[in-house]
Amino acid sequence: MLRDFKPLKIYFIENRIALALGLSSLLLVDALQLFIPRIIKKSIDALTMGQASVRLLLTYALIIVGIALTMAIFRYIWRYLVFGHARKVEQALRNRIYKHLQTLSLSFYWRVKTGDLMARAVNDIDAVRMATGIGLVALTDGIVLGLATIGFMLYINVELTLISLIPTPFIVYFTLIITRRMGKGFRQVQQTFSEVTESVREALAGIRITKAYNRQSWGHGRVKETGETYVRNNLELARSLALFFPVMTLFTNLGLAIVIWIGGRLTILGNITTGDFVAFISYLNLLTWPLMALGWVTNLIQRGSASMRRINGILDEVPEITNQIANPYKGPIRGKIAVNGLTYCYPQKEDPALRDITFTIEPGQTVAIVGGVGSGKSTLLQTIPRLVETERGMIHIDGIPLHDIDLTNVRGSIGFVTQETHIFSDTIRNNIVFGRQGISEDSIEIALEASQLAGEIDSFPQGTHSLVGEKGIMLSGGQRQRLTIARALISNPPILILDDALSQVDTGTEAAILNSVLEIRRGKTNIIVSHRLSTIRRTDIIFVLKAGRLVELGDHATLFAARREYTRLYERQQLREELEGGR
Ligand code: ADP
Ligand code: MG
Repeated sequence: MLRDFKPLKIYFIENRIALALGLSSLLLVDALQLFIPRIIKKSIDALTMGQASVRLLLTYALIIVGIALTMAIFRYIWRYLVFGHARKVEQALRNRIYKHLQTLSLSFYWRVKTGDLMARAVNDIDAVRMATGIGLVALTDGIVLGLATIGFMLYINVELTLISLIPTPFIVYFTLIITRRMGKGFRQVQQTFSEVTESVREALAGIRITKAYNRQSWGHGRVKETGETYVRNNLELARSLALFFPVMTLFTNLGLAIVIWIGGRLTILGNITTGDFVAFISYLNLLTWPLMALGWVTNLIQRGSASMRRINGILDEVPEITNQIANPYKGPIRGKIAVNGLTYCYPQKEDPALRDITFTIEPGQTVAIVGGVGSGKSTLLQTIPRLVETERGMIHIDGIPLHDIDLTNVRGSIGFVTQETHIFSDTIRNNIVFGRQGISEDSIEIALEASQLAGEIDSFPQGTHSLVGEKGIMLSGGQRQRLTIARALISNPPILILDDALSQVDTGTEAAILNSVLEIRRGKTNIIVSHRLSTIRRTDIIFVLKAGRLVELGDHATLFAARREYTRLYERQQLREELEGGR
């Protein structure tokens, strides 16, 4: 079980000084606590034996104040250092998971649900933090303070100690059971709380449609339902809590009863002094926390290690797509793409999405890829930046096998506008620059100009510094697409890929964008997936895909004259465009 925590070792070593100071302070507080009953014993013995003086009592009182003060200071110190350490572990672990997740290939994300990853990043990290923070404290207190307290009790009277310890196993066991139940209840409450938040958020986000359909009662019902589950789970948790303290008090009072009965007799017989008798009761009280800690720590560590196992599951995941040779090519890329016998099949799929595709694109060529829905266009485009992994030798760039080129270099040399436009809730500028270094103002201007966004952005209150997305300016589908084109253009990459990137702008704008884009892209390689005839006709060469096969390739005139697949697609598209607007 402790082996699961191995990845945390480096953080324990890193924080060793703070941790050592924190744990020493904890032990010091524990030790000081144990002396208070000794002072009580001395004052009571002095009183009962008639040896007390005002001076003596004042001394004892001052000693207690001194101990209490020192304890307060060192308790502050250990809490700060030990819990601080746990927070540092949490942060380091979170960064490590996120960093690792970014190296993993798309195939990992096809396999694993986002919700599961979120749960790892939130709940599991929290469980690990608890285990390394309060878990460590409970372990130390349970063992050291527990044993030391029993030691002090034994010092007073062995027989009395043994008898009064009878209820203690029940305290440990009961804490174990109840904290497990409370942990489960607490997680359930957290879970339903996020469901409540989500249902309210969704109800508000969909308020327009709810009102339009007069479905307020339906919307309210959904919020009410999750709210009721939340209350039920909270009550469940409250029941466990309500059980815990009364039962604990019962056990500790049982111990107290034993001490009064047996210890009282020993006192009468003169085996122990009255002071010892009172001190013994104090020790018994002190013992409650270490006993509870032992029960609790078992859960904390069990849960922590289960969480650590799940986290290790992610950290052990090996990125499928990485550099494959020791010295991958890091030099400049001109943009020749040669594909030879490319076949690709998605994992867990029977039929290949791409079958035996062969073609060559020369640097500076502009290529159109056409084909029906599901013909493999997007898959083909994703093989070039190695977003999906092909076999070595199927693709060469500038004559170099794709797998021998540094992965960062490949991806850095390709501007890829995917079919889905993802806009981050940030400023327009940050969405375009995307954290890349050395982007000049001029290139931002040029990219905005080329993607026909410049004019619209000028009308935004803060220009390119306007926030977009949640709480910012809402962009239309076409604007989003143009923004992602600007993002791809800005680094002026040798290869540009536009996967159906202009489907949501009108034909006129598409033509304008294409004019300016191809103007600034002159001499560079461009691959464009589009359905618009005006776009397709302007390219140097057209690839026609059908069911994963490259069935035709050539320029528009030749392909059209051939009267095969291309002609069919072309005529169908022509009809559609005529129906849409007579254009
Ligand atoms: P297109 O872009 O031409 O519409 P795609 O390349 O997206 O076609 O899809 C080609 C085929 O691969 C389709 O049959 C599609 O269902 C399948 N496919 C696409 N993405 C995945 C995926 N992530 N997992 C499994 N199959 C996929
Ligand atoms: Mg597609």
